[in-house]
Amino acid sequence: PCTDFDVAYFHSYAHVGIHEEMIKDRARTETYKEAIMQHQSLIQGKVVVDVGCGTGILSIFCAQAGAKRVYAVDASDIAVQAMEVVKANGLSDKVIVLHGRVEDVEIDEEVDVIISEWMGYMLLYESMLGSVITARDRWLKPGGLILPSHATLYMAPVSHPERYSHSIDFWRNVYGIDMSAMMQLAKQCAFEEPSVESISGAERSNMARSDQTTGSISHGSHIMQIKHIDCQTVKIQELDSVTARYKFKSMMRAPMHGFGFWFDVEFSDPASSPAKTTSATSVASGSSSMSPSREGNQKKRSNPSDALVLSTSPEAPPTHWQQTIVYFYDPIDVEQDQIIEGSVTLSQSKENRRFMNIHLEYSSAGRSFVKESVMR
Ligand code: SAH
Repeated sequence: PCTDFDVAYFHSYAHVGIHEEMIKDRARTETYKEAIMQHQSLIQGKVVVDVGCGTGILSIFCAQAGAKRVYAVDASDIAVQAMEVVKANGLSDKVIVLHGRVEDVEIDEEVDVIISEWMGYMLLYESMLGSVITARDRWLKPGGLILPSHATLYMAPVSHPERYSHSIDFWRNVYGIDMSAMMQLAKQCAFEEPSVESISGAERSNMARSDQTTGSISHGSHIMQIKHIDCQTVKIQELDSVTARYKFKSMMRAPMHGFGFWFDVEFSDPASSPAKTTSATSVASGSSSMSPSREGNQKKRSNPSDALVLSTSPEAPPTHWQQTIVYFYDPIDVEQDQIIEGSVTLSQSKENRRFMNIHLEYSSAGRSFVKESVMR
């Protein structure tokens, strides 16, 4: 059912700014274009559905790659502009814009390819992947191509003293006045919600060993994979709530301010790519493997299939997703080799399924903490 929340959600995509931001995100848009060209042999002469076409850009890339027909579906009023863009480019015979939800529109044939740019902050915010799954189950031929084919969410501990001193310690002495009474409120306001920002430069210090000679950060085993999704097989129910256990060993003595999250998506063809290794942290088994072998920060990962990867890691070229940091209200002083462990649960908010609840449990040196937040 299309709730009032969805009306507001689709309305937000009727503004030009959000499309401008996405299209100007070159890492995003060029990687999609490259993925389409890389899979041209599977698109040429084939039928494609673009789930959430926005301005129609990905549909047009697919038509240019030789698709026989592209169904460009969007529930937002941006679909009106998509129709005009398609027409102005002389592609009206190939690209059929359907103004409605993928859950509601009718397509009277099976399709060979699904393409979609569905990823939200922290990967799962917006809960749009469910609509891609619906499209897959309604129309995709067995063995059809889904771009992107896989998605992975990562987390790492973050140390960001400047952020803390800038907005919290600041109140200790304001023009000579002790305003530390403001600190509690400042913490609440600054850290209640997850923060979308770039972990970069000195701030990128994610408690991993930093390489003194180059000044770059080697994440080592400090990056943990918390969810790996195979878009061919994932079920909608799996995404209602995702839980992972984690365990980090600090590589240095430093205050820890929270956890950073980012994701990557991979564009591979089910026929040519071997099944992913099972190094993914299995949520069901509650395993706490730290997957040290996974890097997740190169554009082209050196996996056997050499699949194209769009990464939003702090090490990758910047994207409009940046990274998301869930800050603690108070930093934890961590010694070198100290263990930080706990669990994280990301779940759709009951109040609005487009919102995401983040439940973070952590313990360190015998003290346990819980941080609840909502991404709205
Ligand atoms: N493909 C475009 C836009 C991506 S943004 C691009 O790459 O630039 C995601 C788009 O998906 C938004 O325009 C949003 O309105 C649309 N969308 C999200 N869920 C949808 C659904 N269930 N049915 C139809 N459109 C949807």
